[in-house]
Amino acid sequence: NTESSPLHVVLFPFLARGHVPAFLRLATLLRALRPGLDVTLVSTPHILASLTLPPSSPPVRLHALPFSPADHGLPAGAHSLADLQVHQFIPFFRASESLRPAFEDFISTVHTPTCIIADAFFAWTADVARAASHAVFLPGGAFGNAVFFSVWEHLPHHALTDAADEFPLLPDFPDVVLHRTQIPRYMLAATGADPWSAFFRRVVASCRATDAVLVNTVGELEPAGLDMLRRCFGARTWPVGPVLAEPPSSGSSESPDDDAAIIRWLDARPARSVLYVCFGSQNSVTAAQTAELALGLEASGVAFLWVVRPPLERDAKEGFDPAWLPAGFEGRVEGTAGLGLLVRGGWAPQARVLAHRSTGAFLTHCGWNSVLESLSCGVPMLGWPLGAEQFFNAKLVAEWGVCVEVARGNMESSKVTREAVAEAVGMVMGETGKGGEMRRKAASVSRAMAAAWEEPTRGSSAESLEGFLRSVETAAGRW
Ligand code: UDP
Repeated sequence: NTESSPLHVVLFPFLARGHVPAFLRLATLLRALRPGLDVTLVSTPHILASLTLPPSSPPVRLHALPFSPADHGLPAGAHSLADLQVHQFIPFFRASESLRPAFEDFISTVHTPTCIIADAFFAWTADVARAASHAVFLPGGAFGNAVFFSVWEHLPHHALTDAADEFPLLPDFPDVVLHRTQIPRYMLAATGADPWSAFFRRVVASCRATDAVLVNTVGELEPAGLDMLRRCFGARTWPVGPVLAEPPSSGSSESPDDDAAIIRWLDARPARSVLYVCFGSQNSVTAAQTAELALGLEASGVAFLWVVRPPLERDAKEGFDPAWLPAGFEGRVEGTAGLGLLVRGGWAPQARVLAHRSTGAFLTHCGWNSVLESLSCGVPMLGWPLGAEQFFNAKLVAEWGVCVEVARGNMESSKVTREAVAEAVGMVMGETGKGGEMRRKAASVSRAMAAAWEEPTRGSSAESLEGFLRSVETAAGRW
C-alpha cells in the first residue's frame, strides 16, 4: 500500500542468523511511525523461508534473490554465517556479493522513491542506481562497531609482542586501550594485504558512501561510541536502539514443549537465584574450557540454566553428547539436588529466560543482541567474549559496571579455571557487594533503554528514527 506514504524502504540484512531479526524489528518500528510505509525485506530463499512472521499484519513484504552456496565452492547447506567455520567466512562474504545483479534488478522494478537500508556487509548497495537514499543499519553497538572497523584500517597488528600487551590501538581513538587478547586471532594475523583486510576495507569504504548510519544503541548510553562511529564513517548517525529481536513476553520457538519445560523449571526457583549461561547462536569454547566451565558452575553452588553447545573440536551441528561434559556431571547437577538444568538442544527461549524473575545474572559471549536483551531486563553479566566485536562489547559493558569478564577467547592459550568461574559467579549473584552494585547499575541501564522507546513514537530513539525518516522523505521529494 503506497497510498499513505510515497516511500518504499528496502531492508537488506546480511545472511546471518543474528542479523535478520533486528531488521524485522526495525521494520515494525518504522511502520509504527509511518503506518502506510511499504517495506520489503530482501534476502535469499532459504533465509526468507526460515522466518517466523506474525500472521496478522506482517511488517514487511519479502523478496527472494537466488543464491546457491555450492556455486561458490561452499557446502550446499551454507546459507548463513552460522553454518560456517571462520576459515569459510571470506568465501562466503565473496559469494554474498554475487547477489548484486539480482538486487539491482529488483530495485529497478520499484517505481516509488526507495530507501535502501542495508547491513554493513552489504554496504556496496550504496552505489546502486535509482535508490533515493541509502542507509546502513548496524545491529551491533556503536563502540563495538567503531573499534571493529577501525582495527581493520590500522593493520597490521601482528608485530605486537607479549611484552607490549596493552596499547592504544587506534590512531583514530587514542583513548581506547586494548589488550592483544581482545583482538580476534584472524585480525592479529592480518597483514593489511590479505583477503580479510581487503574485504573489511571495502566494507568501510562503502560505509563512507552511505547517507546515514542507523545504530542499535541508545544515544544516552553511548555518546562516545556514537562520536567514534561518526568519525569512522563520516555519515549522519542515528541511534535507534534497543532494537530487540522480539519482545520478552512473546514466545517464538520451534520447540514450545522444551521452552515450556525451561520456564517451568525457572518458575520453581526463588527470585534472582539462577545464572543463565549461553554463548549465542554460533560460538563455542574448547572441550577443556567446557569442562572447566562445568566444574566451575557446579562449584559455585549457584543454580544455573546452561545452553550446552558442542565444544569447538566437534562438529557445530552435532547432537548432544554426554562426553562433552565431565564424568558424572549431568547426574550430579540435574539429580535430586536440582542445582542445574542443561539445555541439550542448543537453543533456549533467551528473551523469556532473561525476563524471568528467577534469572539473576547471565554468563554471555557478549554478542550485542545478548547484551541488549540482558540489560533491558536489568540482568548483570559475566562476560566471556569469544570473537569479532564481542571483546569490545565486553570492554564497554565492563566500563558501565554491569559486567565482569570471567574469561576471554576460545583458543587453547585462553585459560579459564573452575575456581575463577566459581568465584566470579558467586560475586555477581551476590545481593550485596559488587553483585548488588552491578544489579543496581543494570537496572539503571534498563530504565534508559525503556525511556529510549517509551512509546512507538516517544523517546530518544523514537525521535532519532523519526528524524532519519524525515531526512529520507526529503531526499525522496527531490528524487
Ligand atoms: N538466542 C536464543 N537462544 C539461544 C541462543 C541464542 O534465543 O539458545 C538468541 C538470543 O536471544 C539473541 C541471538 O540469539 O537474540 C544471539 O545474538 P547475539 O548477538 O547475542 O550473538 P550471536 O549469536 O550473533 O553471536
